[in-house]
Amino acid sequence: FHTSNNCLFSDRQGFTVIIILMDNERLINPGIISSDDRIDIALRPRLLEEVTGQDQVRENLSILLSAARQRKEPLDHVLFYGPPGLGKTTLAHVMANEMNVNIKITAGPAVERAGDLAAILSNLHEGDILFIDEIHRLNRAIEEILYPAMEDSVLDIMVGKGPSARSIRLKLPRFTIIGATTRLSLVSSPLRARFGAVYRLNYYDLPSMEKIIKNASNKLNIHADEEGIREIAIRSRGTPRIGLRLLRRVRDFAQVRADGEINQTVSIDALELLSIDHAGLDDVDRRVLETIIEKYHGGPVGLGTIAASISEESDTIMEVVEPYLLQLGLIDRTPQGRLATRKAYDHLNVPFPENNGSYDEPKQPNLF
Ligand code: ADP
Repeated sequence: FHTSNNCLFSDRQGFTVIIILMDNERLINPGIISSDDRIDIALRPRLLEEVTGQDQVRENLSILLSAARQRKEPLDHVLFYGPPGLGKTTLAHVMANEMNVNIKITAGPAVERAGDLAAILSNLHEGDILFIDEIHRLNRAIEEILYPAMEDSVLDIMVGKGPSARSIRLKLPRFTIIGATTRLSLVSSPLRARFGAVYRLNYYDLPSMEKIIKNASNKLNIHADEEGIREIAIRSRGTPRIGLRLLRRVRDFAQVRADGEINQTVSIDALELLSIDHAGLDDVDRRVLETIIEKYHGGPVGLGTIAASISEESDTIMEVVEPYLLQLGLIDRTPQGRLATRKAYDHLNVPFPENNGSYDEPKQPNLF
């Protein structure tokens, strides 16, 4: 058997079998890209030396890349995890550029059937990178096809049905999988074990965020002074994607309400209008804290209950809201649920109950 353009060909016994694996355009390019996304993509660093922050990950990646280049081998499989917007996709592209190989992109939920994955894998060339975003959402049956592909570069596919069904083993070129996940705990341990390197991306510190926003404003020809940039950086939750989005919104504000220049006052006014406070908390973050404090006496309260109380998805709270509130020390995670800390009371200007720690029944909301 050999593969070409999504088809498997065999002509060993004097006849040709063509199995069309299916068009994988949909899988490789899922989703609709907005103009903001396009700007983000254009702003992505291309090489490792252009990447700001994440020093330890960068250093490890640089060793990984140099070693693979010296040995003239494909990169080992890499798994990135951490909250959304911190640069997992960006780093996957950087690695492809550094290795000078193609990168194909898909996401866990887009790979629904075994044939979907077979189509993608059989189109890879030696050294190519396959980036699988949200890898924790791959289903188990698909994962099992990935194991031999990752370990031995082979693809086992079933041909036929019932008693005549048999498995064909296809040799694949040696390739690299880069997985990304916001929920490492949901990646099964057999899959995790097949990644040669697992890196956690952390929130960026203030100087890194300032640098990322400054670079972006230079590239986009935005006039912004240092104080204006710092205000945006402070409220970006240590997340480049959020920093870049706020920069665009502040630019709009500066254009419409000011003379087009971003300074401290313009940044603060624009960000307050967006309901983003000085700690970078938005409405959803504050509603989570208010719910714990006002409805559940400071907690502990389960995440599902909080999500239901404010009509938000539990996943959003778990992946986006909670990590940042934990990072700021505004909540604590206990086996019984989430607790608001004294800092959270201070942040919302609510007096801290000194006998806090005992949990009463939630107050009934006042309906009148
Ligand atoms: P993730 O895959 O973790 O959700 P992305 O890689 O899509 O995050 O990053 C979002 C955007 O933030 C990118 O398009 C890129 O422009 C910017 N970005 C991320 N990390 C960095 C970085 N270290 N330096 C500069 N820009 C970055």
